[in-house]
Amino acid sequence: MNDKTADLIVVGGGGSGLACAIEAARSGARVILFEKGERLGGTTGWSVGSYTTSASPHQQRKGIVDTPAAHFADMDQVNAAATRSGHTDNLALRKLLTDNAPDTLQWLMDLGIVFLGPNPEPPHTAWRMHNVIPSSKAFVHFLELECHRLGVRMLLAHAVVDLRVEGGRVCGVAAKGPHGQVADYTASRGVVLAAGDFAASHELRQRYFPEEVVKAEPVNPLSSGDGIRMAEAHGATIINGGHANSPRMRFVPAAPTWFHRVPPYRLFTKTLSFLWNWIPLFVLRPFMMRFLTTALGPEPTLFKAGALLVGPSGKLVPVDLGSLALHLARQPENSAYIMFDATVAAKLNAWPNFISTAPGIAYAYLSDYRKARRDIYFEAASLEELCRKLGVDGSVLTADVVRERAVRTAAGESISLLERGPFYALGPVRAYVTMTEGGLCVDEQLRVLNQAQQPIAGLYAAGSNGQGGLLIEGHGHHIAWAFVSGRIAARNAVRTP
Ligand SMILES: Cc1cc2nc3c(=O)[nH]c(=O)nc-3n(C[C@H](O)[C@H](O)[C@H](O)COP(=O)(O)OP(=O)(O)OC[C@H]3O[C@@H](n4cnc5c(N)ncnc54)[C@H](O)[C@@H]3O)c2cc1C
Repeated sequence: MNDKTADLIVVGGGGSGLACAIEAARSGARVILFEKGERLGGTTGWSVGSYTTSASPHQQRKGIVDTPAAHFADMDQVNAAATRSGHTDNLALRKLLTDNAPDTLQWLMDLGIVFLGPNPEPPHTAWRMHNVIPSSKAFVHFLELECHRLGVRMLLAHAVVDLRVEGGRVCGVAAKGPHGQVADYTASRGVVLAAGDFAASHELRQRYFPEEVVKAEPVNPLSSGDGIRMAEAHGATIINGGHANSPRMRFVPAAPTWFHRVPPYRLFTKTLSFLWNWIPLFVLRPFMMRFLTTALGPEPTLFKAGALLVGPSGKLVPVDLGSLALHLARQPENSAYIMFDATVAAKLNAWPNFISTAPGIAYAYLSDYRKARRDIYFEAASLEELCRKLGVDGSVLTADVVRERAVRTAAGESISLLERGPFYALGPVRAYVTMTEGGLCVDEQLRVLNQAQQPIAGLYAAGSNGQGGLLIEGHGHHIAWAFVSGRIAARNAVRTP
């Protein structure tokens, strides 16, 4: 092949794109993968790394009997709130996900990726959440290695800017290289769009979302919706565009340390997995938490227990339990601390009062944050001292807390609002658009459909681009969908004449 022709072109080097490239290359196809960023990974590399599936070896070892059919059925409950909000669900794609998630977990494990688990996640009726160790960077590391082994041509810092169509069939792309040069590339089997969601596209956020989502910041600035916009320009349609579960409250990410530079070698992750069964959890948990690079999201449990959200001026920021970051996103500073007292702290060390999910350990509690996230953990004997540490005006806070106590007492609530020392703060937290759920309409072969619901010849979509009205609420379904759909899109594309 010359250097601009291939059998298949994959747009995006995150989880779905890498899985797609591997699956196609294993069947003998010549693949070019374009990644707009300077390195591979996308939002997949930002994720916590939970993967939800039934019928796993982990479940079998624990004697859990679970099936794709049971997983499929439970998703009615998992998706219930989104369905009630009027978002459509695509049951054909749900079946594709739940049927293929077990095999794809094994496929990832065969590449060298190690998971711990399973962990509970109600309303799932079985323990299904599996957690990658040491972090989601392991996905990127092992998939990239396999792409190299298979000879996938990976063009980093190359942004695909348009699709090329001949005789009504998508036959290639135009891509802009690192020096701004645009060149055409062709592919005999077509193009798979795997370019992630549109959390960072101001234009698409404005089209679909209210002010607070438009104003919140994206976790991954490269999630610019390019795949969706390019396909739309060629007749594709977007479904569930207005669904984002955002803004989301997240702690600012940890600053990178030497821990984050440790490659997730197979021997290292296997050793960690072995030690997990032998070393007391309180020793291993902080170690695991240190690998974390992503922005973890505090759960509503914190606020139900009596934690308060405090802005930089000391004023309380209201918290809507259905959308924690709603009011935070509307504050000009988009920054606040979560504050609570000893009574609340005592509740935050055992299931179900976790602070956030976390890689490997699944659920992180206050003691995990104390040991592993010293950068966002604050403790003081008095409220005044805590406010001094944070640079927050204590008198403004005290006045607001008095008012809040009166409101809650009048409402019949009896919870401890910053009453008993020691006092704690976690943060800062910010309002983020973590991801958007709108994807291109696709069929079960992951072919992109036009407005007449007919496949656009030669065009496929996977991961967030190919979400196609599939509701994947809860933890661990997006990652599973990225890998499952990437593999399926590749199989269908390479066998199409
Ligand atoms: C903080 C955080 C934590 C999360 N944790 C979890 C979790 O634990 N479990 C779970 O299931 N889900 C999680 N998710 C969601 C999950 O990570 C994503 O839904 C999933 O990784 C999307 O995979 P993808 O392949 O579709 O997109 P991505 O992984 O984002 O890959 C898309 C790639 O395409 C590239 N690209 C974009 N435009 C172009 C272009 N024009 N040309 C070339 N390349 C382009 C991007 O740079 C990117 O590398 C989390 C998300 C966030 C933000």
